[in-house]
Amino acid sequence: MSSHPSPAGALPDEQRQAAPSRVLVLNSGSSSVKYQLLDMRNHSRLAMGLVERIGERTSRLTHTPLTGGGAEPRETTGPIADHEAALKSVAEELAKDGLGLDSPELAAIGHRVVHGGLKFTRPTLVDDTVLAEIQRLIPVAPLHNPANLTGILTARALRPDLPQVAVFDTAFHTTMPESAARYAIDVKTADEHRIRRYGFHGTSHAFVSRATAKLLGKDPSEVNVIVLHLGNGASASAVREGRCVDTSMGLTPLEGLVMGTRSGDTDPAVIFHLMRVGGMSTDEIDTLLNKKSGLIGLCGDNDMREIRRRVDAGDEQARLAFDIYIHRLKKYIGAYYAVLGRVDAVAFTAGVGENAAPVREAAVAGLEGLGLAVDGELNAVRSDEPRLISPEHARVAVAVVPTDEELEIATQTYALVSGSAERSDGLT
Ligand code: ADP
Repeated sequence: MSSHPSPAGALPDEQRQAAPSRVLVLNSGSSSVKYQLLDMRNHSRLAMGLVERIGERTSRLTHTPLTGGGAEPRETTGPIADHEAALKSVAEELAKDGLGLDSPELAAIGHRVVHGGLKFTRPTLVDDTVLAEIQRLIPVAPLHNPANLTGILTARALRPDLPQVAVFDTAFHTTMPESAARYAIDVKTADEHRIRRYGFHGTSHAFVSRATAKLLGKDPSEVNVIVLHLGNGASASAVREGRCVDTSMGLTPLEGLVMGTRSGDTDPAVIFHLMRVGGMSTDEIDTLLNKKSGLIGLCGDNDMREIRRRVDAGDEQARLAFDIYIHRLKKYIGAYYAVLGRVDAVAFTAGVGENAAPVREAAVAGLEGLGLAVDGELNAVRSDEPRLISPEHARVAVAVVPTDEELEIATQTYALVSGSAERSDGLT
């Protein structure tokens, strides 16, 4: 670790100016790598891109340089065998604009890691022990942690001297009390198999709850917020004074809200029934609940734009899917209202939450008794900025707050490597 750059916090101002300030954020999936390069001096984005279909013959790298005014994406297609080849291709694209991985300006690489179990409560500098722990968590995150691990190992091989920081999706939720995190099943069995609510999308819930406090002109420690992260995956969280006290995803990202392709909450006995009566295998049921349920299972579409088009055209199946989606959302708003006792704001975020005005309107319709309402005109405004959509003087603010997980990962990573890690706990 002695080869890492000195913490900028320890340097005088004039030297701090010259300290490396760029962070590469990597989000490695099983067959894809998403990335962004940010300059943390001014939080500007220098480049972003996506490698898709890694391991296939039709792999594609889409790279968008964001410096010098030109933001035309460059696309390369052709076989990219594995993550190492993918990252090498990304490095080559970055180098074309003078932003290569060998740049002395690069301070660190920040990695999204989906499952950090109970051990990782904050962003963590990667060493062999950390890698072993991420590996140990594979049984509870079989789809995600292996790819995240591969991403880290590949990046480390390319720049062994550079700090690699793991930022965990679960970390923000580790403040949940045991009463919220435990399932009511036999304690010994639960402990033996590490079964509990971990929660996901934590980076987004942390970013959005903090940005909501800022929108209200308050410190995060002064407000209670219900965050509704509604993307293709969706989760809700109850955040009291900057700390998560409950969240809807559980041991895996299957629990909770109705999602694009995931069922969210069901009676667990549905699974026994499908096995005993339906003759389905464990893998078949896993696929059914994770990939063929939710909105797509209910109406054949998982894109909210298409579902709304169908609803507006009088399609009954799409209407029912929409109503089930909204019913579940409303139940969670009510539940987290009760958990928090006092709610200052409800914040909508991610693809659906940021864009689908009808979802926001329907989710709070009839909740005036709880102090929740949406102003039709404000709700219809399209903007990339955080904004309030509740009527003036409403008891509870309803907000649209665009999430930015890459910026949050870069912020947490930079805070750690520049020696101001106390800022990385999601509270400031
Ligand atoms: P994820 O990161 O989970 O893949 P996103 O947060 O990008 O998902 O959200 C993707 C979803 O957002 C799409 O499936 C679609 O349902 C929804 N979405 C995106 N744009 C709009 C829009 N303009 N109106 C309604 N829904 C939208």
